[in-house]
Amino acid sequence: MVERRTPISVKEAITRVMQFEKEGEKEEVSIYECNGRFLSEDIVANQDVPSFDRSAYDGFAIRSVDVKGASKDNPITLAIVDEIGAGQVCQKRIGECEAVRIMTGAMLPSECDAVVMFEVVKEGSENNQPYIIIDHEVEKGNNLSFQGEDVKKGKLLVGKGTKINPGIMALLATFGYEKVPVAKKPIVGIFATGTELLEVDEPLEKGKIRNSNAYMVMAQIERAGATPVYFGKLQDVFTESYEAMKEKLALVDILITTGGVSVGDYDLLPAIYKEMGAEVLFNKVAMRPGSVTTVVHLDGKLLYGLSGNPSACYVGFEIFAKPIIRRYLCSPKPHLQSAPAILGEDFLTGNAFTRFFRSTVNREVDGLLHTVPSGVDKSNIVTSLAFANALTILPNNTTGYKKGEKVEVLLLEEETGSDWPWK
Ligand code: AMP
Ligand code: MG
Repeated sequence: MVERRTPISVKEAITRVMQFEKEGEKEEVSIYECNGRFLSEDIVANQDVPSFDRSAYDGFAIRSVDVKGASKDNPITLAIVDEIGAGQVCQKRIGECEAVRIMTGAMLPSECDAVVMFEVVKEGSENNQPYIIIDHEVEKGNNLSFQGEDVKKGKLLVGKGTKINPGIMALLATFGYEKVPVAKKPIVGIFATGTELLEVDEPLEKGKIRNSNAYMVMAQIERAGATPVYFGKLQDVFTESYEAMKEKLALVDILITTGGVSVGDYDLLPAIYKEMGAEVLFNKVAMRPGSVTTVVHLDGKLLYGLSGNPSACYVGFEIFAKPIIRRYLCSPKPHLQSAPAILGEDFLTGNAFTRFFRSTVNREVDGLLHTVPSGVDKSNIVTSLAFANALTILPNNTTGYKKGEKVEVLLLEEETGSDWPWK
Protein backbone atom coordinates (compact mmCIF):
# COMPACT_ATOMS: atom_id res chain seq x y z
CA MET A 1 0.00 0.00 0.00
CA VAL A 2 1.21 3.46 -0.84
CA GLU A 3 2.00 5.46 2.26
CA ARG A 4 -0.11 8.62 2.71
CA ARG A 5 1.93 11.59 3.74
CA THR A 6 0.50 14.79 5.17
CA PRO A 7 2.18 17.91 3.78
CA ILE A 8 3.29 20.61 6.19
CA SER A 9 3.77 24.25 5.24
CA VAL A 10 7.15 25.49 4.08
CA LYS A 11 7.32 27.76 7.11
CA GLU A 12 6.67 24.88 9.47
CA ALA A 13 9.27 22.76 7.67
CA ILE A 14 11.89 25.52 7.96
CA THR A 15 11.03 25.94 11.64
CA ARG A 16 11.57 22.24 12.26
CA VAL A 17 14.93 22.26 10.49
CA MET A 18 16.10 25.42 12.23
CA GLN A 19 15.56 23.81 15.63
CA PHE A 20 18.86 22.10 14.86
CA GLU A 21 20.74 25.24 13.92
CA LYS A 22 24.07 25.72 15.62
CA GLU A 23 27.22 27.71 15.11
CA GLY A 24 30.14 25.62 13.98
CA GLU A 25 33.69 25.62 15.31
CA LYS A 26 36.02 28.53 14.81
CA GLU A 27 39.54 28.71 13.50
CA GLU A 28 42.13 31.30 12.58
CA VAL A 29 43.50 31.43 9.07
CA SER A 30 46.16 33.59 7.47
CA ILE A 31 44.86 36.75 5.84
CA TYR A 32 46.12 35.29 2.55
CA GLU A 33 43.59 32.45 2.84
CA CYS A 34 40.55 34.15 4.27
CA ASN A 35 38.89 35.70 1.21
CA GLY A 36 35.39 34.22 0.77
CA ARG A 37 35.37 32.73 4.29
CA PHE A 38 32.91 33.81 7.01
CA LEU A 39 34.01 35.91 10.00
CA SER A 40 33.53 34.17 13.34
CA GLU A 41 34.02 37.39 15.32
CA ASP A 42 32.94 40.99 14.92
CA ILE A 43 35.59 43.27 13.48
CA VAL A 44 35.89 46.31 15.72
CA ALA A 45 38.18 49.24 14.93
CA ASN A 46 41.18 48.81 17.25
CA GLN A 47 42.55 52.27 16.36
CA ASP A 48 41.42 55.51 14.74
CA VAL A 49 41.72 55.61 10.95
CA PRO A 50 43.66 57.55 10.02
CA SER A 51 45.57 57.38 13.27
CA PHE A 52 47.04 60.88 12.82
CA ASP A 53 46.09 64.11 11.04
CA ARG A 54 47.60 64.01 7.58
CA SER A 55 47.77 66.04 4.42
CA ALA A 56 45.11 65.26 1.84
CA TYR A 57 47.15 66.88 -0.97
CA ASP A 58 50.62 67.68 -2.14
CA GLY A 59 51.38 71.22 -0.98
CA PHE A 60 52.56 73.18 2.03
CA ALA A 61 51.64 72.73 5.68
CA ILE A 62 51.15 76.11 7.29
CA ARG A 63 49.89 77.82 10.44
CA SER A 64 46.65 79.48 9.32
CA VAL A 65 47.25 82.35 11.74
CA ASP A 66 50.31 83.41 9.69
CA VAL A 67 48.20 84.20 6.62
CA LYS A 68 45.44 86.02 8.42
CA GLY A 69 44.79 89.21 6.45
CA ALA A 70 46.58 87.90 3.33
CA SER A 71 45.16 89.21 0.05
CA LYS A 72 46.23 90.08 -3.49
CA ASP A 73 47.26 93.49 -2.15
CA ASN A 74 48.84 92.04 0.95
CA PRO A 75 50.60 88.80 0.00
CA ILE A 76 52.40 87.03 2.83
CA THR A 77 55.69 85.18 2.52
CA LEU A 78 56.42 82.00 4.44
CA ALA A 79 59.85 80.36 4.67
CA ILE A 80 60.00 76.65 3.76
CA VAL A 81 61.94 75.05 6.58
CA ASP A 82 61.41 71.33 5.90
CA GLU A 83 60.17 68.85 3.33
CA ILE A 84 58.31 65.59 4.10
CA GLY A 85 56.82 62.81 2.01
CA ALA A 86 54.23 60.22 3.10
CA GLY A 87 55.69 58.11 5.89
CA GLN A 88 58.14 60.82 6.99
CA VAL A 89 57.73 62.90 10.10
CA CYS A 90 58.78 66.54 10.43
CA GLN A 91 61.52 66.85 13.07
CA LYS A 92 61.50 70.63 13.28
CA ARG A 93 59.44 73.04 15.30
CA ILE A 94 57.55 75.25 12.90
CA GLY A 95 57.66 78.88 14.00
CA GLU A 96 55.99 82.09 12.91
CA CYS A 97 55.80 82.54 9.11
CA GLU A 98 57.32 79.15 8.46
CA ALA A 99 55.90 76.31 6.38
CA VAL A 100 56.74 72.73 5.40
CA ARG A 101 56.63 71.23 1.94
CA ILE A 102 54.36 68.21 2.46
CA MET A 103 53.10 65.35 0.29
CA THR A 104 49.72 63.55 0.35
CA GLY A 105 49.45 61.20 3.32
CA ALA A 106 52.29 62.76 5.32
CA MET A 107 51.66 63.53 8.99
CA LEU A 108 50.83 67.17 9.66
CA PRO A 109 53.56 68.89 11.74
CA SER A 110 52.06 69.56 15.15
CA GLU A 111 52.35 73.38 14.95
CA CYS A 112 50.57 73.50 11.58
CA ASP A 113 46.79 73.40 11.11
CA ALA A 114 46.19 73.58 7.34
CA VAL A 115 47.63 72.69 3.97
CA VAL A 116 47.71 74.85 0.86
CA MET A 117 48.04 73.14 -2.47
CA PHE A 118 50.99 73.77 -4.77
CA GLU A 119 48.65 75.29 -7.35
CA VAL A 120 47.58 78.27 -5.21
CA VAL A 121 50.93 79.58 -4.04
CA LYS A 122 53.87 81.27 -5.72
CA GLU A 123 57.19 79.58 -5.01
CA GLY A 124 60.57 81.26 -4.96
CA SER A 125 64.04 81.10 -3.43
CA GLU A 126 66.46 83.69 -2.09
CA ASN A 127 69.97 82.92 -0.81
CA ASN A 128 69.16 79.22 -0.93
CA GLN A 129 66.15 79.77 1.30
CA PRO A 130 62.98 78.60 -0.46
CA TYR A 131 59.77 80.46 0.30
CA ILE A 132 56.13 80.69 -0.78
CA ILE A 133 53.89 83.65 -1.23
CA ILE A 134 50.24 83.33 -0.31
CA ASP A 135 47.71 85.94 -1.38
CA HIS A 136 44.60 84.70 0.43
CA GLU A 137 43.53 83.63 3.88
CA VAL A 138 43.44 79.90 4.67
CA GLU A 139 40.98 78.33 7.01
CA LYS A 140 42.17 76.11 9.82
CA GLY A 141 41.73 72.45 8.81
CA ASN A 142 41.90 73.09 5.05
CA ASN A 143 43.02 70.13 2.94
CA LEU A 144 43.56 67.82 5.87
CA SER A 145 42.41 64.28 6.50
CA PHE A 146 41.74 64.20 10.21
CA GLN A 147 42.54 61.51 12.74
CA GLY A 148 39.50 59.21 13.10
CA GLU A 149 37.78 60.79 10.09
CA ASP A 150 37.36 57.39 8.40
CA VAL A 151 36.49 55.50 11.56
CA LYS A 152 36.91 55.99 15.31
CA LYS A 153 38.48 53.39 17.56
CA GLY A 154 35.88 51.05 19.08
CA LYS A 155 33.35 51.19 16.26
CA LEU A 156 31.81 47.89 15.14
CA LEU A 157 32.69 47.60 11.47
CA VAL A 158 31.65 44.17 10.25
CA GLY A 159 29.52 41.68 12.14
CA LYS A 160 30.44 38.05 12.61
CA GLY A 161 28.94 35.75 10.01
CA THR A 162 29.76 38.17 7.19
CA LYS A 163 31.40 36.72 4.11
CA ILE A 164 34.82 38.24 3.59
CA ASN A 165 35.02 40.27 0.37
CA PRO A 166 37.74 42.51 -1.07
CA GLY A 167 36.53 45.52 0.95
CA ILE A 168 36.63 43.52 4.17
CA MET A 169 40.14 42.36 3.24
CA ALA A 170 41.17 46.03 3.22
CA LEU A 171 39.71 46.48 6.71
CA LEU A 172 41.39 43.36 8.05
CA ALA A 173 44.73 44.61 6.78
CA THR A 174 44.10 48.14 8.10
CA PHE A 175 43.56 46.76 11.60
CA GLY A 176 46.48 44.36 11.55
CA TYR A 177 44.66 41.03 11.26
CA GLU A 178 47.51 38.82 10.12
CA LYS A 179 45.37 35.93 11.39
CA VAL A 180 41.65 36.16 10.75
CA PRO A 181 38.99 34.50 12.92
CA VAL A 182 36.67 32.52 10.65
CA ALA A 183 34.06 29.80 11.02
CA LYS A 184 35.24 26.31 10.14
CA LYS A 185 33.56 25.12 6.97
CA PRO A 186 31.11 22.34 7.68
CA ILE A 187 31.72 19.14 5.73
CA VAL A 188 28.71 18.15 3.70
CA GLY A 189 28.64 14.64 2.21
CA ILE A 190 26.66 13.75 -0.91
CA PHE A 191 25.36 10.50 -2.34
CA ALA A 192 23.34 10.38 -5.55
CA THR A 193 20.94 7.44 -5.47
CA GLY A 194 19.39 5.77 -8.48
CA THR A 195 20.13 2.64 -10.50
CA GLU A 196 19.58 4.72 -13.63
CA LEU A 197 22.52 7.01 -12.96
CA LEU A 198 25.66 7.19 -15.04
CA GLU A 199 28.70 9.20 -14.07
CA VAL A 200 29.77 12.20 -16.08
CA ASP A 201 32.50 10.29 -17.94
CA GLU A 202 30.29 7.36 -18.94
CA PRO A 203 28.63 7.14 -22.38
CA LEU A 204 24.83 7.22 -22.41
CA GLU A 205 23.08 3.84 -22.33
CA LYS A 206 19.48 2.91 -22.97
CA GLY A 207 17.24 3.88 -20.07
CA LYS A 208 19.99 5.62 -18.14
CA ILE A 209 20.75 9.28 -17.44
CA ARG A 210 23.80 11.12 -16.28
CA ASN A 211 23.94 12.07 -12.66
CA SER A 212 23.70 15.84 -12.69
CA ASN A 213 22.46 16.37 -9.15
CA ALA A 214 25.71 15.50 -7.40
CA TYR A 215 27.63 18.16 -9.31
CA MET A 216 24.90 20.73 -8.91
CA VAL A 217 24.60 20.12 -5.18
CA MET A 218 28.38 20.23 -4.72
CA ALA A 219 28.35 23.69 -6.28
CA GLN A 220 25.42 24.75 -4.10
CA ILE A 221 27.27 23.56 -1.01
CA GLU A 222 30.30 25.60 -2.04
CA ARG A 223 28.18 28.64 -2.76
CA ALA A 224 26.68 28.29 0.70
CA GLY A 225 30.23 28.33 2.14
CA ALA A 226 30.70 24.66 3.12
CA THR A 227 32.99 21.90 1.87
CA PRO A 228 31.31 19.25 -0.29
CA VAL A 229 32.51 15.64 -0.28
CA TYR A 230 31.05 13.47 -3.00
CA PHE A 231 30.82 9.82 -2.00
CA GLY A 232 29.61 8.58 -5.38
CA LYS A 233 26.34 7.12 -6.56
CA LEU A 234 24.33 4.34 -5.04
CA GLN A 235 22.19 1.76 -6.77
CA ASP A 236 18.66 1.40 -5.42
CA VAL A 237 19.67 -1.55 -3.25
CA PHE A 238 18.86 -1.38 0.43
CA THR A 239 21.80 -3.02 2.20
CA GLU A 240 24.55 -1.37 0.20
CA SER A 241 22.91 2.03 0.45
CA TYR A 242 22.30 1.66 4.17
CA GLU A 243 25.87 0.54 4.89
CA ALA A 244 27.41 3.28 2.74
CA MET A 245 25.31 6.02 4.32
CA LYS A 246 25.99 4.82 7.83
CA GLU A 247 29.72 4.65 7.24
CA LYS A 248 30.00 8.07 5.61
CA LEU A 249 27.69 9.84 8.05
CA ALA A 250 30.43 9.50 10.64
CA LEU A 251 32.75 11.61 8.45
CA VAL A 252 30.51 14.60 7.84
CA ASP A 253 28.51 17.32 9.59
CA ILE A 254 25.57 17.01 7.19
CA LEU A 255 24.69 14.19 4.78
CA ILE A 256 22.73 14.86 1.61
CA THR A 257 21.28 12.24 -0.68
CA THR A 258 19.42 12.89 -3.88
CA GLY A 259 16.61 10.65 -5.11
CA GLY A 260 14.73 7.77 -3.52
CA VAL A 261 12.54 9.78 -1.15
CA SER A 262 9.17 9.36 -2.84
CA VAL A 263 6.78 6.47 -2.52
CA GLY A 264 7.93 4.48 -5.57
CA ASP A 265 8.96 0.84 -5.36
CA TYR A 266 12.67 1.66 -5.40
CA ASP A 267 12.53 4.70 -3.16
CA LEU A 268 14.56 3.29 -0.30
CA LEU A 269 15.44 6.32 1.75
CA PRO A 270 12.43 6.16 4.10
CA ALA A 271 13.33 2.57 5.02
CA ILE A 272 17.01 3.44 5.39
CA TYR A 273 16.23 6.31 7.77
CA LYS A 274 13.98 3.99 9.76
CA GLU A 275 16.68 1.34 10.02
CA MET A 276 19.16 3.99 11.18
CA GLY A 277 16.75 5.03 13.91
CA ALA A 278 16.62 8.62 12.65
CA GLU A 279 13.89 11.06 13.68
CA VAL A 280 11.94 12.27 10.64
CA LEU A 281 11.37 16.03 10.82
CA PHE A 282 9.18 15.94 7.72
CA ASN A 283 8.76 14.00 4.51
CA LYS A 284 6.18 16.08 2.70
CA VAL A 285 6.16 19.85 2.28
CA ALA A 286 3.43 21.91 0.66
CA MET A 287 5.77 23.30 -1.99
CA ARG A 288 6.49 22.80 -5.66
CA PRO A 289 8.94 21.69 -6.71
CA GLY A 290 10.38 19.66 -3.85
CA SER A 291 7.29 18.37 -2.05
CA VAL A 292 9.01 15.06 -1.25
CA THR A 293 11.97 16.80 0.42
CA THR A 294 12.73 14.86 3.57
CA VAL A 295 14.87 15.91 6.51
CA VAL A 296 15.78 13.60 9.37
CA HIS A 297 17.89 13.93 12.47
CA LEU A 298 20.28 11.40 13.94
CA ASP A 299 22.66 11.97 16.85
CA GLY A 300 22.91 15.71 16.36
CA LYS A 301 23.33 15.54 12.59
CA LEU A 302 20.86 16.40 9.87
CA LEU A 303 20.38 14.15 6.85
CA TYR A 304 18.71 15.65 3.81
CA GLY A 305 16.81 13.43 1.42
CA LEU A 306 16.42 15.71 -1.58
CA SER A 307 14.29 14.77 -4.54
CA GLY A 308 16.02 13.20 -7.54
CA ASN A 309 14.28 15.66 -9.83
CA PRO A 310 16.93 18.30 -10.53
CA SER A 311 14.81 21.41 -9.99
CA ALA A 312 13.21 19.96 -6.87
CA CYS A 313 16.63 18.97 -5.58
CA TYR A 314 17.98 22.46 -6.20
CA VAL A 315 15.10 24.23 -4.46
CA GLY A 316 15.09 21.79 -1.53
CA PHE A 317 18.76 22.52 -0.90
CA GLU A 318 18.39 26.31 -1.06
CA ILE A 319 15.38 26.47 1.24
CA PHE A 320 16.31 23.89 3.87
CA ALA A 321 20.05 23.12 3.73
CA LYS A 322 21.61 26.50 2.96
CA PRO A 323 20.31 28.24 6.12
CA ILE A 324 21.70 25.47 8.33
CA ILE A 325 25.09 25.82 6.63
CA ARG A 326 24.98 29.59 7.02
CA ARG A 327 24.21 29.22 10.73
CA TYR A 328 27.28 26.98 11.05
CA LEU A 329 29.13 29.88 9.47
CA CYS A 330 27.77 32.25 12.16
CA SER A 331 25.45 34.15 9.83
CA PRO A 332 22.70 36.01 11.72
CA LYS A 333 20.59 36.07 8.54
CA PRO A 334 20.97 32.58 7.14
CA HIS A 335 18.05 32.42 4.71
CA LEU A 336 18.13 33.44 1.08
CA GLN A 337 17.89 37.18 0.68
CA SER A 338 14.34 38.19 -0.20
CA ALA A 339 13.21 41.20 -2.18
CA PRO A 340 9.97 42.47 -3.68
CA ALA A 341 9.62 42.11 -7.45
CA ILE A 342 7.11 42.58 -10.23
CA LEU A 343 5.86 39.44 -11.91
CA GLY A 344 6.73 39.56 -15.61
CA GLU A 345 4.29 36.84 -16.73
CA ASP A 346 0.87 35.44 -15.87
CA PHE A 347 0.60 32.34 -13.68
CA LEU A 348 -3.11 31.87 -13.94
CA THR A 349 -3.59 28.42 -12.46
CA GLY A 350 -4.17 28.19 -8.73
CA ASN A 351 -2.06 25.88 -6.64
CA ALA A 352 -2.61 24.20 -3.31
CA PHE A 353 1.14 24.31 -2.72
CA THR A 354 3.52 27.27 -2.56
CA ARG A 355 5.50 27.50 -5.75
CA PHE A 356 9.15 28.44 -6.10
CA PHE A 357 9.79 28.98 -9.75
CA ARG A 358 13.30 29.29 -11.02
CA SER A 359 13.59 32.84 -12.22
CA THR A 360 15.69 35.40 -13.90
CA VAL A 361 15.44 38.68 -12.07
CA ASN A 362 16.45 41.90 -13.78
CA ARG A 363 16.42 45.51 -12.71
CA GLU A 364 13.77 47.38 -14.62
CA VAL A 365 13.96 50.95 -15.88
CA ASP A 366 11.53 52.08 -13.17
CA GLY A 367 13.94 50.74 -10.55
CA LEU A 368 11.90 47.70 -9.53
CA LEU A 369 13.05 44.12 -9.86
CA HIS A 370 11.24 42.23 -12.55
CA THR A 371 11.01 38.44 -12.46
CA VAL A 372 10.36 35.93 -15.25
CA PRO A 373 10.76 32.14 -15.36
CA SER A 374 14.26 31.11 -16.37
CA GLY A 375 12.86 28.16 -18.31
CA VAL A 376 10.21 25.46 -18.18
CA ASP A 377 8.66 25.27 -14.72
CA LYS A 378 8.58 21.54 -13.94
CA SER A 379 10.43 19.73 -11.20
CA ASN A 380 12.26 17.38 -13.57
CA ILE A 381 13.67 20.21 -15.66
CA VAL A 382 17.41 20.79 -15.51
CA THR A 383 17.95 23.50 -18.12
CA SER A 384 15.98 26.24 -16.33
CA LEU A 385 18.49 26.09 -13.50
CA ALA A 386 21.38 27.43 -15.54
CA PHE A 387 19.75 30.85 -15.90
CA ALA A 388 18.14 31.11 -12.48
CA ASN A 389 19.41 33.88 -10.24
CA ALA A 390 16.31 33.82 -8.04
CA LEU A 391 13.37 31.76 -6.88
CA THR A 392 10.05 33.52 -7.13
CA ILE A 393 7.62 32.67 -4.34
CA LEU A 394 4.00 32.23 -5.34
CA PRO A 395 2.11 31.40 -2.16
CA ASN A 396 -0.70 28.85 -2.64
CA ASN A 397 -3.99 30.32 -3.80
CA THR A 398 -6.89 29.37 -6.03
CA THR A 399 -6.64 32.11 -8.62
CA GLY A 400 -3.02 32.18 -9.64
CA TYR A 401 -1.07 35.38 -10.24
CA LYS A 402 -1.19 38.05 -12.91
CA LYS A 403 1.61 39.77 -14.73
CA GLY A 404 2.40 43.03 -12.94
CA GLU A 405 1.56 41.74 -9.44
CA LYS A 406 4.04 42.33 -6.66
CA VAL A 407 5.66 39.12 -5.38
CA GLU A 408 8.67 38.13 -3.26
CA VAL A 409 11.80 36.71 -4.83
CA LEU A 410 14.68 34.90 -3.14
CA LEU A 411 17.99 36.04 -4.58
CA LEU A 412 20.33 33.10 -5.08
CA GLU A 413 23.57 35.01 -5.50
CA GLU A 414 23.18 37.70 -2.82
CA GLU A 415 25.19 37.34 0.34
CA THR A 416 23.42 39.51 2.92
CA GLY A 417 20.64 37.00 3.56
CA SER A 418 17.29 37.36 5.32
CA ASP A 419 16.15 36.73 8.87
CA TRP A 420 13.18 34.99 7.52
CA PRO A 421 12.07 34.82 3.92
CA TRP A 422 8.37 35.28 4.61
CA LYS A 423 7.78 38.37 6.72
P1 AMP B 1 13.61 9.92 -7.54
O1 AMP B 1 13.54 11.09 -6.62
O2 AMP B 1 14.68 8.95 -7.19
O3 AMP B 1 12.28 9.29 -7.70
O4 AMP B 1 14.00 10.52 -8.95
C1 AMP B 1 13.14 11.39 -9.60
C2 AMP B 1 13.64 11.69 -11.00
O5 AMP B 1 14.90 12.33 -10.94
C3 AMP B 1 13.85 10.46 -11.87
O6 AMP B 1 13.43 10.76 -13.17
C4 AMP B 1 15.32 10.24 -11.79
O7 AMP B 1 15.83 9.54 -12.90
C5 AMP B 1 15.86 11.64 -11.72
N1 AMP B 1 17.14 11.65 -11.00
C6 AMP B 1 17.40 10.99 -9.86
N2 AMP B 1 18.66 11.22 -9.46
C7 AMP B 1 19.21 12.05 -10.37
C8 AMP B 1 20.50 12.62 -10.50
N3 AMP B 1 21.46 12.40 -9.61
N4 AMP B 1 20.73 13.44 -11.54
C9 AMP B 1 19.73 13.69 -12.43
N5 AMP B 1 18.50 13.17 -12.36
C10 AMP B 1 18.23 12.33 -11.34
MG1 MG C 1 15.33 7.10 -7.72
